Amino acid sequence: MGRAIGIDLGTTYSAAAILQADGKPAILPNSEGQNITPSVVLFPDVANGYDEPLVGDMAKHSAATSPLDVVQFVKRQMGDPNWRFESTNGSSFTAEEVSAIILKKLKNDAELVLGEPVTDAVITVPAYFDDTRRVATKQAGRIAGLNVLRVLNEPTAAALSYGLNYENNGTVLVYDLGGGTFDVTIMEIKDGNFDVIATDGNRNLGGFDFDNRIANYVMEQLESQGAGSDLSIDDALVAEIREKSELAKKSLSTVTQANIILSVKGKQYRVKITREYFEEITKDLLNTTQELVEDVMDAASKKWSDIDHLLLIGGSTRMPMVRNMVKNISGKQPELNVNPDEAVALGAAVQAYVCEQESSTSGETSLVPTTVNDMVLNISDVTSQALGVILLNENDQEENFVVIPKNSKIPTKGQRHAVTVVDNQSSIYVQVTQGDDSDVRYAVVIGDKEIPVPQYRKGAPFTVSYAYDIDQTVYVELFDDTAQKTVGTFEIDRSLNMSEESVINAMKRMNDMPIG
Ligand code: AMP
Repeated sequence: MGRAIGIDLGTTYSAAAILQADGKPAILPNSEGQNITPSVVLFPDVANGYDEPLVGDMAKHSAATSPLDVVQFVKRQMGDPNWRFESTNGSSFTAEEVSAIILKKLKNDAELVLGEPVTDAVITVPAYFDDTRRVATKQAGRIAGLNVLRVLNEPTAAALSYGLNYENNGTVLVYDLGGGTFDVTIMEIKDGNFDVIATDGNRNLGGFDFDNRIANYVMEQLESQGAGSDLSIDDALVAEIREKSELAKKSLSTVTQANIILSVKGKQYRVKITREYFEEITKDLLNTTQELVEDVMDAASKKWSDIDHLLLIGGSTRMPMVRNMVKNISGKQPELNVNPDEAVALGAAVQAYVCEQESSTSGETSLVPTTVNDMVLNISDVTSQALGVILLNENDQEENFVVIPKNSKIPTKGQRHAVTVVDNQSSIYVQVTQGDDSDVRYAVVIGDKEIPVPQYRKGAPFTVSYAYDIDQTVYVELFDDTAQKTVGTFEIDRSLNMSEESVINAMKRMNDMPIG
């Protein structure tokens, strides 16, 4: 049997890693020799009617010339039952299938480097992923022909890659600025448990937005240099500007000035950008991440002196302004000895090894030091959204009352008292909501039921209780406090995953699909 690998299935880039014989995790380079692979899929050969997907750099570069045949940021659609990518020749793919294509490429490339089959893997997900998206990730793995040993939180993986384990009790803050998302998580490591205390982020803020700011500046400059005023309608030019803007951004992490050279309608143009100006035009983006860090510190009731380890992960934390900001607000030196875009995959490899050992009954002796061997890793999840109930407030107006706050550890329970509002009221309408805004317009109703109740005088007391299960089912109960009995219950299954049959069909389809 081959060895288990760790996979970081990222929004913009993915990576695979394995624990080596010396007990240290190492990245498995892809077949192009790169440590990270763009999470981009191109469905080429449209003219011939084939859907032979191509994953990685080539696909990313093709975004310019064949935007309709390229899928990017599919992670944002994970677990959305209504999303499909329709290729130009009419084939349709779910987010799980597109993700499976990326995973299959990582699996194939890992097999090439290791010279052995790879079947077992740990795949990472953001801490805020709900169960639907975790199951969808697992299904993507199965479709790709992987046995997913565990779905692991990205910040936990990052902590593992920094060598934090059961010996390192303490509080960790993980600031993760990737290509398309920002996440900040506070975890407590205690006796081998990695408990997520609070997590927050912005799912639409990442390196891509920093690229866009440069791209907009470049467009303005080209226009002012006389390249034309209709540049934004040229898709290929826009894509080229984006790509060059990302390259310029990366070089501004090490040098203080970069040049972007473009040829428009046969004429060459040069746009100069300094690090100072880049930082000025992206200050608001950085500030947004700072505010979210401060929010999550508040949510976890932590002071900076409580934070024992500060980890920066995600390729965008290479930008000096990120490091400076984090240092300034925390007064601490972030730990920087792991590559920020490899940390998650490396940690997943450590967990993959641990899972493999746990399930192994072969009794083979291990080459890995006992510190890793003995590691017990339990990861607990928290609710990413508050659950509430809509009731009438003292002014007789509908209000959303939180029953289970955001960031509660799952499984969890919550209660809210309610009273009848008229004499002889014959039923209570229970509306379960998602979101913590008291204004009902901003709360999403995820389930409801009209429950008949005995007729009392106005003001009769009832209790609404929720139990939130590990599998993301919400059990709702309405209790009659006068008669001391339950008058109604219902369940809300929040799972929106592919059916077993669809997964099996997708596995067959994938089996017949060569992936480049
Ligand atoms: P990740 O998804 O964590 O691999 O992060 C990818 C993001 O990191 C992309 O937006 C990259 O442009 C960005 N990135 C990678 N290297 C650098 C760098 N040296 N400076 C700034 N951003 C970078």
